[in-house]
Formats: sequence, C-alpha cells, structure tokens
Amino acid sequence: MHDSSFDVVVVGCGIAGLSAAVMAQQNGARVAILERAPKDERGGNTRYTESLWRMKSVDAVSEDFLDKFAANAGGWPDPGIVQEAVLDRDCQPRVLRSLGVVDPQVVAAIADDAPKAIAWLADFGIKFDDIPMYFLSQSTTRMGPIGGGLALVEALGGYADRQSDDIKFFYETAARALIIDDTGRVAGVEAIGDGNVPLRITGSNVVLACGGFQGNPEMLSHYVGPQSQFIRPVSRGGHYNRGEGVRMALNVGAAPCGDFGSFHAQPVDPRSMDMEPVVMNYNLGVLINDSGKRFTDEGPAMVDATYEVVTRLIMGERNGIAYAVFDASLDEVENWNVTVRSRVPPMQGATLMELAVEMGVDAQEFNRTIDAYNAACPSSDGFDPLVLDGLSTTNVNPKKSNWARPIVVPPFRAWPVICSNCFTFGGVKIDEQARVVNTEGDIIPGLYAAGEVAGLYYRVYTGATSVMRGAVTGRMAGADAALRRNSTS
Ligand SMILES: Cc1cc2nc3c(=O)[nH]c(=O)nc-3n(C[C@H](O)[C@H](O)[C@H](O)COP(=O)(O)OP(=O)(O)OC[C@H]3O[C@@H](n4cnc5c(N)ncnc54)[C@H](O)[C@@H]3O)c2cc1C
Repeated sequence: MHDSSFDVVVVGCGIAGLSAAVMAQQNGARVAILERAPKDERGGNTRYTESLWRMKSVDAVSEDFLDKFAANAGGWPDPGIVQEAVLDRDCQPRVLRSLGVVDPQVVAAIADDAPKAIAWLADFGIKFDDIPMYFLSQSTTRMGPIGGGLALVEALGGYADRQSDDIKFFYETAARALIIDDTGRVAGVEAIGDGNVPLRITGSNVVLACGGFQGNPEMLSHYVGPQSQFIRPVSRGGHYNRGEGVRMALNVGAAPCGDFGSFHAQPVDPRSMDMEPVVMNYNLGVLINDSGKRFTDEGPAMVDATYEVVTRLIMGERNGIAYAVFDASLDEVENWNVTVRSRVPPMQGATLMELAVEMGVDAQEFNRTIDAYNAACPSSDGFDPLVLDGLSTTNVNPKKSNWARPIVVPPFRAWPVICSNCFTFGGVKIDEQARVVNTEGDIIPGLYAAGEVAGLYYRVYTGATSVMRGAVTGRMAGADAALRRNSTS
C-alpha cells in the first residue's frame, strides 16, 4: 500500500476542491488533491457549467438572494426553531446545531464571501461579466466568469499544477473512507488508485469536495426513489460524483443537511449529446405528454424561476417525457433560439397530424388538446415574451397564465423534453468555516465539506448559487484547514 502525508488532503477537484487546495497552499499548507477522473477530465460538474452566479454586480449578490433562500427552505418550519436559528451558533441548543435546515448563517456567509471570491478569482485571470444565457429574460440578476466553469478549472488547476512542490495531484484516485485517529480526529483518507491499488493519504485536515451522488444509482435509488437512477446527469462530469464524500462523512457521524430526496432538475432534449442540452422555450408553446394531453401551466412565471418545478412534473408523466410544441409563430420571437441548447433539429410536421406521428403520441387526443387550448387563448395583442404579459387562457384545464397564443400556423414543431439531474441536494451540515458538524452539534475535528457535499438546498434550488457555494465553502475550508494544520482541535 502507498502511504503519503500532507497538511491538507482535498478530495475532488471541481470549484470547491480547487478553491480549498489553492487557498490552503496560499496559507502555507502542503496539499494533496485526490481526483477520480484523469487529468484531462478533471473538474467534475464545474468543468461543464456555464457557472452563473446570482450577483447584481461583482460587489454584491442579487437583491433577492436571502429572501429566495428563505422562500425555498421548504415545508412549514417550527417557528421556535426559526427563532433560534439566528442565535450565535455557540448559543444555539444542541438539537438545533445539528439540525438539517437551510442555515441562515451559512447562507449569509456565502453572500458575504461571494464578492471576495470573485476578487480572489480575478488574481488568477478570471473576469466576471454579464454572460449569454438560455433565458430570454429573468426574474433576478446573474453574472458569470467569462469562459464558464472550464475557465475556473483551468485557472485554479493551472495555478495548482505550477505549485508542484506544495500541491500534489493524485489522478484516477478515488477516496473511499476517512482515517480517524485515537482522539476522534480525522487524519486522512483511504483511497483506491488505478488498477485497484489501495492508498493511504494522511494529513491533519481533510476537505471533502467530491460532489453529490448524481452518478451513483444505488444512492439515488436509496434516497431519491427507485426511478431516479434513470434520470441521467445533465453532463458528463456528474457521472464522476458517486457520493463517497457524503457517505464518508455520514459514516463518521456527520449531521445530514440538504434535501436527500431531491436534486436540481433541468429540462433537456433526450436525443442530444450536447453538454447541457436544455429546452427552455416551452413557455412560448404548450407541453404535451405521451398521451397527447397538456398537464401543466406552461407559463406560471418567468422560466428561470419555474423550470425546476415544471421539469419535476415532466418527470412524473408517463415514460418521464413531454414535448414542447409550437407553431411557426415561434420564429417571431427575437432570439428564441438561445433558449434551446440541443442542436438536434426539432420534430416537424406540415399538419398537427404529421407532428403527432413524429412525436409518437395519439393523434386524435393531440388534436383535441390543441383545439381546446386554441379555443381558450385570448387575442394575441400585447404578447411580450420578455415580461409576464398576462395573456392567459380561459376555460381550459390546465390554465396557461402567460404567453398564451394559439397553435395554428404551419409548420408545427416539437422538442422532446426529459428531466435531467444537475446535482443532488443531500449533503452534510457545515458551519461558517465549512467545518463538518456531527449529529450531536459538535465539530468533527479535522473534517471539512465544500461544494455539493455541503448540503444547502431543500425542495427548490435557489438558481445560480451552486458554483458560488463551491468557491466560497472551498475557500473557507482551505483557509481554516491551513490555519489548523498543526492543531489538535
Ligand atoms: C451543465 C451544468 C450547468 C450548471 N449550471 C450552473 C450555473 O449556471 N450556476 C451554478 O451555480 N451551478 C451550476 N451548475 C452546478 C454546479 O456546476 C455544480 O454544482 C458545482 O460546480 C459543483 O462543484 P463541486 O466542486 O462541489 O463539484 P464538482 O465540480 O462536481 O467536482 C467534484 C470532483 O470530485 C471528483 N470526485 C468525485 N468523487 C471522488 C472521489 N471519491 N475521490 C476523488 N475524487 C472524486 C469528481 O471527479 C470531480 O472532479 C451546473 C452544472 C452543470 C453540470
């Protein structure tokens, strides 16, 4: 067995792991990074993301940042708990310190550090700006690094490559278990390298930054439900994230945090091999299920705020598929094509009958559905795809609340849409230094969690905050782990 020793052992090399490793090195630590992928595929989900951040400028998060996290916290929390959640962590009762909830202090720490993370990334040549999006217009403000997540991986990864005396990469090496010393302190990881070779990598602190469990059918079935293993990761990077980070931490007593039964859902074209083949134009047409029927309001609010909920409904339809159907008037919408990232051409028909055959749905039922919908549409005066235009149907169930225009002008087009898994929500509880909290409310000495391993979301994802979470929690973990590298607490 190979055995090596470092100050800080980082598992995973997406935005969270790279931020942790570089921050630890900048604070004087010798760092090991374990990465399951080969070097040319390093970076997990981060490598494939556009990396939008919910910011109004490089100096501040969006106006709705804290409110959205609160609104998306899910359920009807006990008001007594909500009241105590704002107390200083040390003054909170034990039961609360270990409770899996959207932690206002962690959310505030992320909001506070996001501008600092952007300034820090600028030192590595990363520039944030308004970047092209797949929404025609949006309900909040977003910015992103020019070059997306790949630019982040290349900038921080490139820096780490050049610090070879201080940062050592172990590629094609997957961490499997934490090493715990006699005092209960985490002291390294056991891993498996190429050719099933076991390794022990020790260090006074370990940062788990190896993503969620979207690439692990066993954990998906266990936590999200039996059908979830058929919901594919939205990009190739997700297949590398097999949940060991979450499992290793839970195995040593970490408190669970984040919605274990859920994940960030994105609507994609199942035929496409593109990186993130989203279909975000459905609000301009209608969604038809496999039986030829409408099943939801396609335009309840701006698409960026509702696509996750709509995608979950698609997942629940027969065969987990729907079709976004349009007539030729789609072409009147300026720039509509930015909303579809699949390069596979849509199904097309000169008549609705022809389109139904292409889609493989019952043509009679499909015709009846479109007739009923068309009859319920108002005049198209005032149609505006950039705002909630209030053009809503009357006397049809389900209602369409905005952008309701009849589907009458040939040719007719349809994109198939399925639900994909961007990342899972279930993770472990951390504090504002990204230290892992155990089920009794105490810190597990030597253990940090960053990025997707750190549970943050319940029910609905607060969009454009996951890369930010990775950068911020990675930075927190790296700095604190370097500081405590010779400590016993
Ligand atoms: C197509 C796409 C678009 C997205 N768009 C956005 C967006 O616009 N804004 C946003 O905020 N978020 C977005 N996300 C989500 C976001 O990219 C991720 O949640 C975030 O980048 C995760 O960072 P991470 O470092 O936690 O994990 P990752 O980037 O996934 O990195 C985890 C790393 O750990 C490695 N690993 C896994 N298991 C092990 C193991 N046992 N041992 C060693 N290594 C291991 C993996 O190979 C991987 O390199 C998007 C994701 C995708 C895929």
